[in-house]
Amino acid sequence: MADEERQSSGGAGEREGSVGRARVAIVDDRHEAPPGPRTVRQQPVREDVMPKEGMQLPGVPVDSLFDCTIIGAGPTGLFAAFYAGMREMSVKIIDSLGDLGGQVSALYPEKHIYDVGGFPAVKGKDLVAACVEQGLQFGPTVCLGERVQKLGRADDGTFVLQTDKHIHHSRTVIICAGVGAFTPRKLPNAPAIDDLEGRSVFYFVREPDVFRDQDLLIVGGGDSALDWALALEPLARSTTLIHRRDRWRAHEDTVNKVLESSVNVRTFHEVKDIQRANGRLTGVTIYDNRTQTETQLPVDRLLLCLGFIANIGPIRDWGLEMVDGGIAVDSTMATSIPGVYAAGDVARFPGKLHLIATGFGEAATAANHAKSFIDPQSRVFPGHSSEKSKEGQ
Ligand SMILES: Cc1cc2nc3c(=O)[nH]c(=O)nc-3n(C[C@H](O)[C@H](O)[C@H](O)COP(=O)(O)OP(=O)(O)OC[C@H]3O[C@@H](n4cnc5c(N)ncnc54)[C@H](O)[C@@H]3O)c2cc1C
Repeated sequence: MADEERQSSGGAGEREGSVGRARVAIVDDRHEAPPGPRTVRQQPVREDVMPKEGMQLPGVPVDSLFDCTIIGAGPTGLFAAFYAGMREMSVKIIDSLGDLGGQVSALYPEKHIYDVGGFPAVKGKDLVAACVEQGLQFGPTVCLGERVQKLGRADDGTFVLQTDKHIHHSRTVIICAGVGAFTPRKLPNAPAIDDLEGRSVFYFVREPDVFRDQDLLIVGGGDSALDWALALEPLARSTTLIHRRDRWRAHEDTVNKVLESSVNVRTFHEVKDIQRANGRLTGVTIYDNRTQTETQLPVDRLLLCLGFIANIGPIRDWGLEMVDGGIAVDSTMATSIPGVYAAGDVARFPGKLHLIATGFGEAATAANHAKSFIDPQSRVFPGHSSEKSKEGQ
C-alpha cells in the first residue's frame, strides 16, 4: 500500500496493519457501508467469463433459503463453495469486493506464489482463475459488492444475513472473511467523484480497453500503480503517474522501467480538483505539495491505486466467540454458534497458520461439517472426489 494512503486516510478508528507482507489500513467501523450496489446471480463459470460485480446472470433466486452461505470469496471461500457444491448443498457466496479472489486479487494478483500444493509457482491472478473455475462449477449464487453487516436467526432457526443491499437466508454459514471486508480506499480531501466511478474513475483495472486512446492519470506509489502504468502506457493516449512522495513502495525494477518509459511521472504531486462535463471526467488539477504550484491536466480516465481498507468490524457483533482478532473454531471449524463455521485467515485455533493451503483444508472441513449439520444422516466424510464421476462422463 502506498504511503499516501496512510498519511491521508484519517478515518476514525483506522490503524495501519499488515496483511501478509502488505500494509493495509485496518478499521473497526461497524456502520460504514462499502460502495458497490449490485448483485450478481451466477451460473457455472464459463471459461471466458470471470464473474464481476454488476454482471446480471440467471441463477438461483437470491431470496431463496440456501443450504450454505459463504461470507468471503477469497481462496478459502471459493474452495468452500466448491466443496459445499460437491456435497450437493445449494450455495451462495457474498463478498464486499466487486471481484472474486480476496486478498490475492486485491493485493497481489501479479506476484508469484510458491507454496500452494500442486503449483510449483503460480501468479496470484492465475491461482484465482483456477479457484474460480473450481469454486463455481456447481453454480453457486454470487453476490459481489455487498458487505454482510448482521448475522441473526429467524424464528425457524435458519440464519438471516443482512448486507447493505439485501437480506439473505441460509441454513448454515461459513465465514471465510479473511482480515475483514476489503474496500478500495477513496481519494482523500477531493471533490465527490462517486458518480464518475466505473465510467471515468476506477479503482481496479478489469478491462484494459477502457483506457485505450484516453488521457490517463494514475495516482499511487505502490506496485499496482506502477504495474498498471507500465501495462496501460501502450494503450493510453497519454499516461501520467503522480505520487505524493519521491519514495516508492514498488519493486525497484518496476520503478526503473516506469522511469525509463514514456509515462509522465510527477512525484510530490497530489490531486487538488477535478473537472467534468456531461457526466464525464475532462481534467484534473494536481498540485506540488512542496510549492503548492497547481497544474492542469486533460484527463479522461483516473485510476486510483490507493490500497484497500480491511474492516472486520461487523463480525465482532455477531455473538461469536472471538480470539486474537479472529473467530474461535474447534477442529470441525465450528464456531460458538451451531451451524456457523469459519475457515481461512479469519479462523483461530491453536497452531493456526495463515496460508492459502491451510485455508483450503479448513474450507473442506467446514463444508463437510455444515452438510452433516443440516442433514445429520449424511456422513461427514462422503469419500474422495476421485471416487465420484462427473455428470456426463
Ligand atoms: C502480499 C501478500 C502476499 C501473500 N503471499 C502468500 C503466499 O505466498 N502464500 C500463502 O499461502 N499466502 C500468502 N498470503 C496470504 C494469503 O493471501 C491469505 O492467507 C489468503 O488470501 C486467505 O484467504 P481467505 O479466503 O481466508 O481470506 P481473503 O483472501 O482475505 O478473502 C476474504 C474475503 O472476505 C471478504 N469479506 C470479509 N468480510 C466480509 C463481510 N462482512 N461481508 C462480505 N465480504 C467480506 C473480503 O472482502 C475478502 O474478499 C499473502 C498475503 C499478502 C497480503
